[in-house]
Amino acid sequence: MSHGVDVEIPVLIVGGSMVGMTAALLLGHHGVPSLVVEHHRGTAIHPRAASVTQRTMEIFRSVGLEQVVRAKSEAQFVQDAGVVGVETLAGGATAHYIANFNDGIRDLSPTVRVFLSQNALEPTLKQSAEERGARMLFSTECVSFEQDADGITAVVRHRDTGGIQKVHAQYLIAADGAHSRIREQLGIRMLGHGTLSKSVTIYFRADLRRFLDGKLWAVVYANHPRLRGFFRFEKPFESAFLVVNTTGDPARPNVDVSTGLTNDIALQMVRTAIGTPDIPVTIENVMHWTATADTAEHFRDGRILIAGDAAHVMPPTGGWGGNAGVQDAHNLAWKLAHVLNGTAGADLLSTYEQERRPIDELTVEQAYTRYVLRTDPSIPKDTMQPLLSDLNIELGCVYRSAAIIPDADGAPPHVSPRESRAMPGTRAPHYWLRRDGEQISTLDLFNRNFTLLAAAEGAAWCESAAGAAEQLGVQVDVFRLGQDGLHDPTGGFAAAYEVEPAGCVLVRPDGFVAWRAKNGSGASTARLRSAVGSILCRS
Ligand SMILES: Cc1cc2nc3c(=O)[nH]c(=O)nc-3n(C[C@H](O)[C@H](O)[C@H](O)COP(=O)(O)OP(=O)(O)OC[C@H]3O[C@@H](n4cnc5c(N)ncnc54)[C@H](O)[C@@H]3O)c2cc1C
Repeated sequence: MSHGVDVEIPVLIVGGSMVGMTAALLLGHHGVPSLVVEHHRGTAIHPRAASVTQRTMEIFRSVGLEQVVRAKSEAQFVQDAGVVGVETLAGGATAHYIANFNDGIRDLSPTVRVFLSQNALEPTLKQSAEERGARMLFSTECVSFEQDADGITAVVRHRDTGGIQKVHAQYLIAADGAHSRIREQLGIRMLGHGTLSKSVTIYFRADLRRFLDGKLWAVVYANHPRLRGFFRFEKPFESAFLVVNTTGDPARPNVDVSTGLTNDIALQMVRTAIGTPDIPVTIENVMHWTATADTAEHFRDGRILIAGDAAHVMPPTGGWGGNAGVQDAHNLAWKLAHVLNGTAGADLLSTYEQERRPIDELTVEQAYTRYVLRTDPSIPKDTMQPLLSDLNIELGCVYRSAAIIPDADGAPPHVSPRESRAMPGTRAPHYWLRRDGEQISTLDLFNRNFTLLAAAEGAAWCESAAGAAEQLGVQVDVFRLGQDGLHDPTGGFAAAYEVEPAGCVLVRPDGFVAWRAKNGSGASTARLRSAVGSILCRS
């Protein structure tokens, strides 16, 4: 340990909420120790994020958390509940944005979308991160940091004792939220639409069973002449929250709901949105926040990597803010692991911004489009992008960077996951195989290491991969259909992955296709060594 340093750690994570905790968990999965410092005394106390996309569930599945998250979700939410619009709850649905959360998408993934509140999810992330060696310091804030060629030196202070520790790390992940001081101190600007409203989340108790029993409603947009926002409902429908984004005339709305909000006004808002006076309502708490749609100009400054709300803030319309942050952490974790263990060049970290920033910006824009369409129709439509399918946002992003070797020119920024067919830069598609008689998703093969997955006649690529892995000192898991108990029971793999019988794909540890050989021509160790070396930015 260098002189005067109290803690020496490969990665310091500032902010221990949904994204910081996920980063610690995924780094631990790759064998990288981290230290998380979190200002609050424990994990989240407010529900905030609840919609968990299929992609986030796939990531949780890869670290063994799918079942626990699903079980917690079942205890908390009606499964497959959808997203509707009402004028008042009592008046019934006037719009159906998503009738059933998983209708028409189950075939795309081995898992499903669920709702699980952030305050219920975070303890699971924390426990799992700690089991993988992450250290957490709560009631502790990062008060200063500096970086030089050798690493990051940060000062962290315990809020109660005032005790100071000096931490030295190779890298710092700034997961310090929408008001990221680290991002501000680096002088990185936020670009986009700015603040849309000073919003509130009103937590209340009321017996809502008569409106919700038997219905598939989890998120209900309230579009009332006097207020716009949304409810979110957990079982057993005896409490809920109402977000209010704007009030007054929908054509000229008041966008500052927060200033001067009293308990009485909050109560009136809840009563208005419920739409019947005969239900006792108790206000429990009000949280003030701003609905904003912005993306950071840069996601990296030297050894500092910015992730989650610190890198992008979006209105909750779409339910993507936390999910996008989980994808950031997933994109970063394996890259940091390879750079730290010397199997990748440091330039691999530049591909984090190259890959995530365009996708996060697209996600912010699509959340903004949904905000204009569902919540504030007074905003001119020409400021928004056309509405894209949720699926393209959640499962269809296309990465372009030095860590992807395209096999065609002009990849689009996103595709339907039904049409991606293992195009390099896209998430490798889910396809059911059988291994030793058990059903297994292709996704279950892509986990900690690079994976070469070959069609039945792709033996030459498998041998080349093994040779390249050995020469480069990089772990590559090699699978070939028809070998080692792995079978394609319905014969559709080649079409799903757009390869011929002697073709193969090389999948990164984050499940994205890095390179593809559609057939067996040119299979050689040299070719694969060059591909893996270039993906890992080795000089
Ligand atoms: C009403 C509402 C509903 C939402 N619904 C959804 C949804 O359904 N799905 C979804 O994906 N997203 C949703 N979101 C968004 C989601 O809550 C955020 O995107 C998510 O919390 C971002 O996580 P984060 O870890 O990046 O940031 P935060 O959750 O903001 O965490 C940042 C943490 O950093 C800590 N911190 C800051 N500075 C320091 C420092 N110097 N030292 C130590 N600690 C520090 C803070 O204490 C905080 O805990 C919703 C948001 C709201 C408000």
